[in-house]
Amino acid sequence: MKVFVTGGAGYIGSITVEQLIKAGDEVIVFDNLYQGHRDAVHPAAIFIQGDLKDRAAIDAALAAHRPEAIMHFASYTLVGESMERPFLYLGDNVVNGVNLLQSALAHGVKKFILSSTANLFDKPERIPIDEDERIIPGSPYGESKNILERILYWLDRTQGMRYACLRYFNACGASEERGEHHEPETHIIPLVLQVALGQRKEFCIFGDDYPTPDGTCIRDYIHVIDLANAHILALRALDGGSRTYNLGNGRGFSVKEVVETARAVTGHPIPTRVVGRRPGDPAVLVASSEKIRRELGWTPQYPDLRTIIETAWRWHRTHPHGYAK
Ligand code: UDP
Repeated sequence: MKVFVTGGAGYIGSITVEQLIKAGDEVIVFDNLYQGHRDAVHPAAIFIQGDLKDRAAIDAALAAHRPEAIMHFASYTLVGESMERPFLYLGDNVVNGVNLLQSALAHGVKKFILSSTANLFDKPERIPIDEDERIIPGSPYGESKNILERILYWLDRTQGMRYACLRYFNACGASEERGEHHEPETHIIPLVLQVALGQRKEFCIFGDDYPTPDGTCIRDYIHVIDLANAHILALRALDGGSRTYNLGNGRGFSVKEVVETARAVTGHPIPTRVVGRRPGDPAVLVASSEKIRRELGWTPQYPDLRTIIETAWRWHRTHPHGYAK
């Protein structure tokens, strides 16, 4: 299949591109390189540097390459930033998604995969969280994804758009060649590994007074290759109708457990310091991924936190400055 991937130079996007190419698909990456890295783009993909603010640029790219499907990764993605700069999310994330969808329909592209988020579930009633959980976005970031999910619902009903919304819990880990590099870095696993590499003095734990066994937040860490494969399965299934899945491992680990595992993997003491809570962080987020397992036969290859951190550690050691030259 010919697939148009926005954000294909970013962390999850670039590794999904790699997996698509391995599976024999043709890929066109559309990325503004604001957060993405040119070197993260697989050499077999066509690369277009473009911005989703620019409807004419999207139209030109779709007209030139005539893809059958779109995977939309390009987005602002930080819960904390969205609490401080809500219009980047409720404005840009939404408007850029709408631009892309308008272009898609104008060019007859009716298969669409949306990167969505666990931040739709701020106050879950049941853990693990399944797709029937009520949606209460935890931040403007979560709300921006909720709005795009709702737009897709209506485009399916009114325009025949077939979509999959994939709500990621905590993506992490690396492939052999691609990994996680954000500027500035805010995610737990790369931060902890930067301490192990001697690039940071300590790791700050955001709050140890949550209602959890060790007082730190619990998250569901899912390997980025498993996430990428879920996109490919969802894409192949779209002819059978639109769908929405929660994507995690179904097991939660606390911040302290992640640090402990990283100590075991790296052999470094990784000093920590407890600081205040980060606004927008719920205490526990763990996914039920029963639905995608049942319907699409998705099975994670890297369910174990230690293996996940080992893959990330291998990439960080071989790329101590990420994609920076
Ligand atoms: N976290 C932390 N210190 C940091 C970064 C993250 O304690 O410097 C915690 C954060 O509060 C959350 C978990 O680690 O409970 C995962 O955060 P991350 O930013 O990696 O992903 P998110 O859950 O925001 O998608």
